[in-house]
Amino acid sequence: MVVPRAIKKLIDNFEKLPGIGPKTAARLTFYLLHVPQKQLDEFAEAIGGLKKNTVLCSICFNVSETDPCPICADQNRDKSIICVVAQPLDVLAIEKAGNFKGVYHVLHGLINPLENIGPDELRINELIHRIKNSAVPIKELILATNPTMEGEATAMYIANEVRKIQNPKSKIQITRLGQGLPTGGDLEYADEMTLSKALEGRREY
Ligand SMILES: [Zn+2]
Repeated sequence: MVVPRAIKKLIDNFEKLPGIGPKTAARLTFYLLHVPQKQLDEFAEAIGGLKKNTVLCSICFNVSETDPCPICADQNRDKSIICVVAQPLDVLAIEKAGNFKGVYHVLHGLINPLENIGPDELRINELIHRIKNSAVPIKELILATNPTMEGEATAMYIANEVRKIQNPKSKIQITRLGQGLPTGGDLEYADEMTLSKALEGRREY
């Protein structure tokens, strides 16, 4: 069967997405053939606007419609507690758990030598700069990276970098999420209760 080019093109694009193999890509594409044109146009517009209509917050590097983002701009958030996460999705997960009143710093990845991702590819320099220049002295840094090899390596690297700039008079407490998160697991998939407990039970790192 000769597949029309428009179909082949969409299948190819779906296949580039994480977790989507050739079969699923084909299934989604043929499903969309039955969807009304108006809905397809909305879908295309949503994809087109995804990056155009969002910015990275210049303070925490979370994705947002505004800079600074609503969390950084919120007067009621405790700016002396920074929770360091790998991805914007982790911010969503922790916000859903609902008991964190500090602010975030999004790294946009984890150190992964196999994929050539080193500290300079992440927002670690920006974090150190932020800590050094913060108007409110930073009291606590929560390293909320996943309990995977990459997450641990990243937490260890950041802890070392922060200790280098530590001032004995205003010591920053470095903590790691507590028990309950499965080792090797993904923060993003943890349920709200587990995440909430892990935050409460965070320990000195
Ligand atoms: Zn922000």
